[in-house]
Amino acid sequence: MTTKSTAAPDAPGWVERDRRVLWHPFTQHDEWLGYEPIVVERAEGFELVAADGRRYLDGVSSIWCNVHGHGHPAILEAMHAQLDRLQHSTMLGLSHVPAIELGERLVAIAPEGLTRVFFSDAGSTAVEVALRMAFQYWRQVGRPEKQRFATLVDAYHGDTLGAVSLGFSEPFHTGYEPITFRSLSFPPPFLCAPLDGRGDCGDAAALEAAAVASLAALERLLDAHAHELAAVFLEPLMQGAAGMWPQPPSFLRRVRALCDAHDVLLVCDEVATGFGRTGRMFAVEQAGIVPDVMCVAKGLTGGYLPVAATLATERVFDAFRGAYADYRALFHGHTYGGNPLGCAAAIANLDVFEREGTLAHARALAATLAGALDAHVAKLDHAGPVRRIGTMVGFDLLRDPQTGERYPSHERRAHRAALAARDEGVIVRGLGDTMILMPPLALPLDQGERLVEATARAVARATA
Ligand code: PMP
Repeated sequence: MTTKSTAAPDAPGWVERDRRVLWHPFTQHDEWLGYEPIVVERAEGFELVAADGRRYLDGVSSIWCNVHGHGHPAILEAMHAQLDRLQHSTMLGLSHVPAIELGERLVAIAPEGLTRVFFSDAGSTAVEVALRMAFQYWRQVGRPEKQRFATLVDAYHGDTLGAVSLGFSEPFHTGYEPITFRSLSFPPPFLCAPLDGRGDCGDAAALEAAAVASLAALERLLDAHAHELAAVFLEPLMQGAAGMWPQPPSFLRRVRALCDAHDVLLVCDEVATGFGRTGRMFAVEQAGIVPDVMCVAKGLTGGYLPVAATLATERVFDAFRGAYADYRALFHGHTYGGNPLGCAAAIANLDVFEREGTLAHARALAATLAGALDAHVAKLDHAGPVRRIGTMVGFDLLRDPQTGERYPSHERRAHRAALAARDEGVIVRGLGDTMILMPPLALPLDQGERLVEATARAVARATA
């Protein structure tokens, strides 16, 4: 990475200064004060380099977005070139060259039929846009009673309040009921798995069987509520923030068919799964389905800048056309939506995917991770079954993996394991009781092994 250092490696006081002024997301600051945080000063390839000079493998892709490593020269070059031409201009009433180019590229790689691209700046805003599209669509095709949404239990679609209304996570969202709306929900296959609690749905047949029960619940929901439903929203193939809960591709195909049969839109949130994480460019490809609306963010720019997009079919787009005075336009837009610098990074990111065979490498990395997880995590005394699709990996820390008995949540075992992993020189994340690994797709295979081995040692220490 060519970034100039703003601090001597031993610059004193960063932690102290952080603690004085910053407020970190999803962070209990009383806990934050209890351990020495890492202050990242730069990154090189797959490593984050702290201000004190220590180096850490970026095992969660800087929250699921880095794709080709940090400081990839082709992406930097594209950003530098764009920087000299246009740093920012608005999509409100104007267009710009990188947005048009990126829009074309996205339509070309998206499942056929997703032909319209609306830019925003984060996964959450891409979801808000999808929400407004789905809601307003039905009003404008003469079905204004279709106002509600159905989502998977423990769905996570972002932190803006529309996105929060779609999802529900006990620790994150309890108490927000007065300022959110209620969605209908149905249990994902994971929660219908025979070994519910242990989450042992790693084997394909068990997962297929669980999907049947989940689909039956969706069918009942649609039978009762389709008349008032605008859309089913879901994270396709893998529910990330819930703790890596997989679905079989057949589940997605059935959901698509059920939505069609009940005249309900299907919105797929590919914010986490998109751009290769599941081994294909988009998770929905694995099921061969086309959603009516699809949200992408995170890996879109290779993880370099905040650009997101909501893609829609021409059928959805057409419902928004008409005379100005009909007020059928989508009255929504964010200042930095489709930022040119971010679009240039995204175009370069897609070029690198093609030139470097990133998807093929991601599949090799997935196989390496699978082997290493089998060798090192499966034999841990306090790890539950591994859930993995592509390079998205989760497994639970359990007091007793045989019975599924959990640790008391205040013991923060996964968090402790993630801190222990730092001593091993790797960054992973604990999400509740779940360890999450999601390395950059281009991570060299030996580094993938190192990531798993180090995580296993850290888990062994945190559960000893
Ligand atoms: N949807 C999904 C499936 C996500 O995983 C996330 C973030 N983890 C979001 C939406 C929200 O994205 P952002 O943090 O960029 O707003």
